[in-house]
Amino acid sequence: METAAPEKPQSFRDTIATVDQDGQRVWIYPKLVKGVFYKYRTYLSWFFLALLFSGPFIRVHGHPLMLFNVLERKFIIFGLAFWPQDFNVLVVGVIAFIVFIVLFTAVFGRLFCGWVCPQTIFMEMVFRKIEYWIEGDAAQQRKLAGMPWNAEKIRKRSTKFLLFFSLSFLIANTFLAYIIGTDDLFKIILDDPRQHLGGLAAITIFTGIFFFVYWWFREQACLIVCPYGRLQGVLLDKNSINITYDFVRGEKRDKKIKNRPEDAGDCIDCKKCVAVCPTGIDIRNGTQLECVNCTNCIDACDEIMVAMNKPQGLIRYTSYNNIVEKTSQVFTTRVKAYTVVLSLLLTLFFYLLLSRPDTETTILRAKGQLYTEQGIYYSNLYTLKSINKTFEPVEVTFKIKEFPSAKIRMVGSNLSLSPQGLAQGAMFVDIPKVHYRAPGMKLSIEVYAKGKKVETISTRFTGPNQ
Ligand code: SF4
Ligand code: SF4
Repeated sequence: METAAPEKPQSFRDTIATVDQDGQRVWIYPKLVKGVFYKYRTYLSWFFLALLFSGPFIRVHGHPLMLFNVLERKFIIFGLAFWPQDFNVLVVGVIAFIVFIVLFTAVFGRLFCGWVCPQTIFMEMVFRKIEYWIEGDAAQQRKLAGMPWNAEKIRKRSTKFLLFFSLSFLIANTFLAYIIGTDDLFKIILDDPRQHLGGLAAITIFTGIFFFVYWWFREQACLIVCPYGRLQGVLLDKNSINITYDFVRGEKRDKKIKNRPEDAGDCIDCKKCVAVCPTGIDIRNGTQLECVNCTNCIDACDEIMVAMNKPQGLIRYTSYNNIVEKTSQVFTTRVKAYTVVLSLLLTLFFYLLLSRPDTETTILRAKGQLYTEQGIYYSNLYTLKSINKTFEPVEVTFKIKEFPSAKIRMVGSNLSLSPQGLAQGAMFVDIPKVHYRAPGMKLSIEVYAKGKKVETISTRFTGPNQ
């Protein structure tokens, strides 16, 4: 990532702000920021939080809007049910999503991290705000951390612990509701705990993980764990729009407010942009892996610029090329190529999605069975397995495509599928001897659901050697 002015010292690249020379964690106390971007991020976070917590309760025709039941391999995405049999749709969807992320990042940098990422929203817009409320701004937090365990520290830390833990518990329950659904979650909460030891263990583990992340791990999740952050080096280029310090305008930095030297730029080296940074970096060193695009430094610097009677935007959303060459080219060759690939993938995805049958059936000749003679027919036994991907009951029936006079005899009743259900059965296919050609002859079986043909399945039919 090359966005710093080349003559700047590069020593900041040898270390990261959250680890000292001895390898010990340096705790970051970002100063509370006020500004336009922070205000709009707060509003947007309310929207996303409302969506996240209400998500498991939103029903479409009585079913969850989203469900990711990896245990039973049932997935509902925007009200549409997916099964492992829809793997091809999901794979194309995931690849399209990854290409979308690559394209989006090439154009808009890490906009997602600052405005949409759940980790940033929870950390900066929920837990950090609680911390400011209980412990005060950065200076008071530092003071509290250095205090012995007196009454004030015990009161503040235990209040924070209680609130952080309760919120982590709430997030863990919501997370689980997306996996198993609200009905099963309420059973775990309300039933005899001994009947739901697995579910209770999951809630406890998730609560512990969320508490650990927001109490202690914090920005390390973005710096160490997040693969998206790590990919920035290859995803960004000089035309990507990022939160960037305008070093052409800002340098040479000088602390003097009055009688500024003639060669001084607009930066007064107040370090407010560093003080508010939740990952502890100095954006004036250029785009860095640690920057989560939270916009705090924009707001902090804008406040200084207003006080200095200078135009806002010394730190702003812009590209390196825009700063250096005053050009902004969004549709670069790379972006055009990604757009073409993404369009093709989306076309394929929607084709697969819309042509997906409501039911999916497997028909196999019964193992170890040859054929029988039934008067004027040769008869083969087939096993059936059918999945209903809809939320309504479906009865599946079959027809032989090539031979209208062929008969189908179900073993037992027709295949009746409950909503999102799976059913197994067996049937005999009787082919008139006059139509029989050779052992292993091809047979096309049409599958009907709700009176509509949903699939045609190719199989084989066997009989005597002619
Ligand atoms: S807040 Fe603005 S003026 Fe102050 S150090 Fe940062 S870039 Fe320079
Ligand atoms: S450099 Fe600015 S945008 Fe990046 S993480 Fe720090 S404060 Fe946020």
